[in-house]
Amino acid sequence: MSANLIWEAAETLPVEKMRELQLTRLKECVKRAMNVEFYRETFAERGITPDSIRSLEDIRQLPFTVKDDLRRNYPFGMLAVPKSELIRIHASSGTTGKPTFCGYTRSDLDTWANLCARFLVAGGLRREHIAQVSFGYGLFTGGFGLHYGIEKVGTAVIPVSSGNTARQVLMLRDAEADALICTPSYALNLAEALAEAGLKPGSLNLKMAFLGGEAWTESMRHAIEEALGINVYNNYGLSEVLGPGVSGECIYHSGMHIQEDHFFVECIDPDTGEELPDGEQGELVITALTREAMPIIRYRTRDLATLDRSLCPCGRTTMRMGRVYGRTDDMMIVRGVNVFPSQIEEALLKAGGTAPHYLIELTRPKSTDRAVVKIEIRPEDFSDRMTEMQALKQRIDREINAMTGLRFEIELLPPNTLERSLGKAKRVNDLRNLKD
Ligand SMILES: [Zn+2]
Repeated sequence: MSANLIWEAAETLPVEKMRELQLTRLKECVKRAMNVEFYRETFAERGITPDSIRSLEDIRQLPFTVKDDLRRNYPFGMLAVPKSELIRIHASSGTTGKPTFCGYTRSDLDTWANLCARFLVAGGLRREHIAQVSFGYGLFTGGFGLHYGIEKVGTAVIPVSSGNTARQVLMLRDAEADALICTPSYALNLAEALAEAGLKPGSLNLKMAFLGGEAWTESMRHAIEEALGINVYNNYGLSEVLGPGVSGECIYHSGMHIQEDHFFVECIDPDTGEELPDGEQGELVITALTREAMPIIRYRTRDLATLDRSLCPCGRTTMRMGRVYGRTDDMMIVRGVNVFPSQIEEALLKAGGTAPHYLIELTRPKSTDRAVVKIEIRPEDFSDRMTEMQALKQRIDREINAMTGLRFEIELLPPNTLERSLGKAKRVNDLRNLKD
């Protein structure tokens, strides 16, 4: 069994061939977008026709698409095909009420399954394995997206879905899954539940996990790898452009390979919209080159990451993206300083001695922000001795200050006091009234 199997030849296309393919597909994508009134109108305002695209650089003439455009065209205004051609409809959750519908044709679903198969195989999933999907099966694209990707590989899938942690533990043990699919925060919850059930790392058949669906840190990866005794791979995607499968890691953990034959990815300064040089942190902008049902052009993901075009030892020639550092919309502004939950997480893991369960609470009692981090202590570190707890608090305070330049109040909680999430973890509770 080769450790580095490549699922499709497209992953190793020479870079010039890839650019040619992207240009051909971008032209087709713009043509398809003309079936969407929103794009027809915005193109007309800028004098853009499908013939305007003569090189890949010409993509910069095209307007950005933002979440609000999708909301304004609710429910099906962004479709480029008649509804009768849809095979499936997912929806992404909206923070302000209405979801965004995402339609898929048969060809979209085929593409999607293949793209998920690519990153699963890149991380080592094979036919002879069993994979447990602990993502919710529903409107969220994680469950179904990975499910069909796993089947495409030829691997047996156990569609456990999310929730019922006791049953998840039982399935992991008795069905002997080799691979686990869920969010990073849920993988940690499962690790905790396995430890409570007396199952040590390495005592299960589990070998790998493919995690995604929320921003997480490298330290968290190490924590999960250690707690479960497995290899952990990161993958990325969002339903507005397809779902999971936009990019994923290979065994070298050197960033996530972007499936460039299906997505054209730019990295921009979120404030100016200008393109940033490779390696600089910026907002990812994604054009779904082949999506039939909903061609999406230059979608502002609000996800912050870096791009890397250097060669990867695995032989894939595709550009890679770093892990998503945060979203422009989970950025907190605390006393005028930009802070991401991932920075607090990194600081906590550096300080050590706490469980990876925390909640940031923001209030504004007078006119100054009060920022509190509530953190659980690991059962083994829980100490009645005040001096030890005090020393831990000081260590956390130092790390948070080094990471953010801010002082947070530190509140240490006994083990298992914060609410556990079954999907994406809630990390910030902003109780400030910021409208005044
Ligand atoms: Zn690679």
